[in-house]
Amino acid sequence: MTLKDIKHWVFDMDGTLTVAVHDFDFIREYLEIPAQADILTHLASLPADVSAAKHAWLLEHERELALASTPAPGAVELVRELADRGVRLGILTRNAQELAHITLKAIGIAQYFEAHDVLGRDNAAHKPDPDGLLQLARAWAVEPSRMVMVGDYRFDLDCGRAAGSKTVLVNVPENPWPDLTDWHAKDCFELRQLLG
Ligand SMILES: [Mg+2]
Repeated sequence: MTLKDIKHWVFDMDGTLTVAVHDFDFIREYLEIPAQADILTHLASLPADVSAAKHAWLLEHERELALASTPAPGAVELVRELADRGVRLGILTRNAQELAHITLKAIGIAQYFEAHDVLGRDNAAHKPDPDGLLQLARAWAVEPSRMVMVGDYRFDLDCGRAAGSKTVLVNVPENPWPDLTDWHAKDCFELRQLLG
């Protein structure tokens, strides 16, 4: 199967369709999360009131980032091209769903995504769990093997593999995870060229 045969694409958002701006070290330090810990997993392990307070801070911090977000090179052109080809498009992000909508609007591509095809951290078990990808497969009535998960990080690739979908790594100059990757592109311009 070549990329242009795949009619159902799911994108990670931050760092994939946007220029990455999250400073995860700062977030960990501010929220007193151990350096190596996964932020969302750590927050889930805390007492409910502490977890809620830290989630609230995180949401406001990320809201500012969302409002100021800028598209990754080639991302707008890629998404537009896919939409023109009749590809169904979804988002699976560890960010919050409402912030995903704000971000997509800020970078000018919100109109290419059905609102309910944008899944955030409250809509699905977070990546690398394949839950969100499988939810979209069911909603779209498509075999996961006929979908592709596009992202800039290992979680995205693990998620795609766990769902049985194809994977694309983008916005990383050298591929550190070739075993998890079906296609690799340095940026979204190069990914668009892979469509042929
Ligand atoms: Mg990302």
